[in-house]
This record gives sequence, structure tokens and C-alpha cells, in this order.
Amino acid sequence: MDIADDETIGSEEQAEREREEYVDFDSLKEKVRHFVRERDWEKYHNPKDIAISIAVEAGELLEIFQWMQPDELAKVKDNEQVVEKIRGELADVINHCISLANNLDLDIPTLVVDKLKKAEKKYPKEQFMGVWQKPEG
Ligand SMILES: [Mg+2]
Repeated sequence: MDIADDETIGSEEQAEREREEYVDFDSLKEKVRHFVRERDWEKYHNPKDIAISIAVEAGELLEIFQWMQPDELAKVKDNEQVVEKIRGELADVINHCISLANNLDLDIPTLVVDKLKKAEKKYPKEQFMGVWQKPEG
């Protein structure tokens, strides 16, 4: 067995581990719903307060980048402490988004795909390839 084979086995083991840890979206929705329900927090989770929470957590995500200079931004992926903070705040935003969708019986995969379809029409790739400009109208 040569080194290339070892790398192949390693990647297969890693891929298997990732499959075991994979959580499909419906399970994720249920995990968020269960987290809220088992704490009896549903009484606090109305659409307004969840939407506010999304904005608050998005602010905490932005705070990580506040005052960061271009040289720090260029190396942000190499900074494990910063990446760990980003992971935490991004998860907070996503968890609240899922909670809002749960509260309003919205299907996130459907609404994301619907919005992408609208964006594809608004920003046709032939016109917006490599450039961004505000569409007219
Ligand atoms: Mg947070």
C-alpha cells in the first residue's frame, strides 16, 4: 500500500464520518423545534421577537468583523479563534431563521429556491457575469 492508498482510505473514513454526522434539513428543523419546546420557550418565540433575534445575532456576527483591517480580513480563514466565533454567531442566526420558519410553517428549502429563481431572473448571468449593478426599475 503506498501513500496514495493511505490518503484514499483517510478520505473514505472522513467521508463516512461526515455522512454519520450529516443532519438532513427536516431533522434540523425538528432539533430546533425540540430545543425551544423542551425549555417552554414557545411562548416567547413569536415572529416579531424571533425576527429581532435574527437581527441581533447578525449584529453579533458583524461585530466580529468590526474594525478588522484588510490584512486581517485576508487571513480570517486562518484565524481559528475568529473562525470559531463566526461559527457560533452564524449558527445563532441560522437557528433563529429556522425557528422563525417553524413558527410560521414556512419551508426554508422551498423559500430559498423560490428566491434564487427570482434572483436568476433579476440578475441574468449573461448581463451580470463578473459585475454588479443595481438593475433598472
Ligand atoms: Mg450570538
